[in-house]
Amino acid sequence: MAPQDAKDRAAQRHRNLLAQEYREMRSRVNMGGVFYPCAVFLAFLSSGGLRTDLTLALGLTLPFVVLAVLRFRVPLHADPEPQVSLRGIRYMWLLVLVTTALWGAFSAWVFRGLPEPAPLVGLLFSGAFGMAIAHTLAMRTGPSALAILLVMVPSMVMLWQRVAPGVAMMWAVYMVYMLLVMVRSHREFHARLALEEELRHQRDLFEVRSRIDDLTGLANRRAFNQALTEAIARERAGVPLALLILDIDHFKRLNDALGHLAGDAALVALARRLEAHFDGHDDLCVRLGGEEFGVLLACDGASALARAEAFRSALAASPLMVDGHAMPMTASIGCGAFDPARHGDGDALYREVDGALYVAKQGGRNRVVAIDGTTAGAASPA
Ligand code: GH3
Ligand code: MG
Ligand code: MG
Repeated sequence: MAPQDAKDRAAQRHRNLLAQEYREMRSRVNMGGVFYPCAVFLAFLSSGGLRTDLTLALGLTLPFVVLAVLRFRVPLHADPEPQVSLRGIRYMWLLVLVTTALWGAFSAWVFRGLPEPAPLVGLLFSGAFGMAIAHTLAMRTGPSALAILLVMVPSMVMLWQRVAPGVAMMWAVYMVYMLLVMVRSHREFHARLALEEELRHQRDLFEVRSRIDDLTGLANRRAFNQALTEAIARERAGVPLALLILDIDHFKRLNDALGHLAGDAALVALARRLEAHFDGHDDLCVRLGGEEFGVLLACDGASALARAEAFRSALAASPLMVDGHAMPMTASIGCGAFDPARHGDGDALYREVDGALYVAKQGGRNRVVAIDGTTAGAASPA
């Protein structure tokens, strides 16, 4: 891989990994947010606090509802720029950290503010939230560890002060276990992301390669079929379309005389000559198969005939250079423009242009014949 290609690939990989992290974090953060207001509400409900102080219950639940709603409002981008992904990821961590800090404060307050079993409910939810963070929000170890501490430490302090140091120690061991789980989830998350990114990259490479002719590097027939369909759609929108089909004259003789490898090299040299000649923005050169090439042009039939003739005469006048040796070559070309009144689809145009090529061969080769019968070029000995 060239240095620039490697750099581009690294940048693309960085972009894709961040985008994937953003998307996954968004869906996980969305899911988790609703449990916090439920937990606050249940702590009040379990201890009869809803009846005694409904306003306080609703007042303490409300911030968690707002934070959960904010999580749902994080936009979904199809293919975000790295800085957009990063900004979104930071924002979501901010929401998570504010939520966990508030939850930690609430879970400690419950020990003083509400009767049993509210502290137990708070404790159970703290354990559940801590483990959920360890499993699902392990994309970044720093903020993830902080979120676990924010959820667990306040209740640990309360257990130490109000229940027994031994229970607080058990809570601390549980928290360490969560942190270890989080580190493991973190490694697994990034390994999976990297693997998925590699698979996507290989799929894209395969997709590109499946459209390129191995020998000449030109577009292949598969790519041609798709390009023809797209060009016909553009033609209906007013962009003209013409097709050339070129077949090398007596190529078999060249193969027989110089060998198959020299024949291959000649095909590559002709492909380069075609690309150099038909180098317009809308020109597409393809290898249709064997020693047959196609060119899609965005022009009318008369221009296509003129351009095909210019190529043919230049080829006949100056031999291909293959491995430092001059290799004379001529080609016959059929050409024609797409006419909706005459051609139902791309196949119909292809058949007519192929017919014109056949006429060029029959007429003595080294010539261009258009589908309307117009011809250009000198007859060469058949
Ligand atoms: P015509 O002027 O009628 O087109 O004669 P021709 O000899 O070019 O036509 P024909 O179809 O009889 O022969 C085409 C030759 O192209 C035969 C085949 O061996 C050769 N060929 C097809 N694909 C390749 C290839 O990839 N490499 C090489 N070296 N030769 C190929
Ligand atoms: Mg042929
Ligand atoms: Mg031929």
